[in-house]
Order: sequence, then C-alpha cells, then structure tokens
Amino acid sequence: MDDCIFCRISAGELPAEIVHSDNEIMAFRDINPVAPTHILIIPRKHIPSNREIQPGDEPLLGRLFVVARDLAVMEGIDAQGYRLILNTGDHGGQVVYHLHLHLIGGQAMQHPMG
Ligand code: 5GP
Ligand code: ZN
Repeated sequence: MDDCIFCRISAGELPAEIVHSDNEIMAFRDINPVAPTHILIIPRKHIPSNREIQPGDEPLLGRLFVVARDLAVMEGIDAQGYRLILNTGDHGGQVVYHLHLHLIGGQAMQHPMG
C-alpha cells in the first residue's frame, strides 16, 4: 500500500526508531508518545484494522502480543505493568489505517477507558 505510512516504515521508505524487526512484524517508537514507553507493533502485512482480519491471520495476530510481551521486558516495564491498545475505526479513535498495537507504559495509566 503505497499511501500507507506504516507500510512505508515497514519498507524502510520512512524513518522510525525501530525496536523490533522480523519477517512478519516490526515495532517502532510512537512519534508522539503519551508515556515514557510508547511503542507501535505492526504486522508487515497491510491489514487496515481489526475489522479486516481474516481466518488464517490468528498466528500473526498472536505474535503481536508475544512481541509486545518481550518488548515490555526489554523496556523494563513488565514488572509494574503496561497497557495494550488496539484502536479500531472512527469511534475507536483509529487514525492510521494499518493495524497496530500500542504498548504504553512507564507510568500508571490515568485516562479512563471510554
Ligand atoms: P491510532 O490512533 O491510529 O491508534 O494511532 C496512531 C499512532 O501513530 C499515533 O499514536 C501517532 O502518534 C502515531 N504516528 C502517526 N504517524 C506516525 C509516524 O509517521 N511515525 C511514528 N513513529 N508514529 C506515527
Ligand atoms: Zn499499511
């Protein structure tokens, strides 16, 4: 997807502070962090949002959470805990339409859900 910023980051066409990269998944720091740790974890495959996930995507989606777990340990936020967010669609507050998991931590979360 030429016009997708996260596909372009995945392809190395746009810069990002990459903290994980493998053949299926990459993770990079959010450009506008809301907490000391704010990492976006994406599948390299262009899936616009959770609405478009397909049968067969389960292992890939599961790996997003495994990468998030490992990055939380690497960031030193595992023991105290963290928040994982997957915004979906307009009401979900999604801005970038390439599925991504937010890993947020390093402080106690204050904003309430909803
Ligand atoms: P959403 O609201 O779609 O779940 O979150 C999109 C996130 O992507 C936001 O937190 C925003 O700061 C981040 N973001 C948008 N553009 C870029 C970019 O070019 N680079 C990086 N690293 N993060 C971005
Ligand atoms: Zn994309």
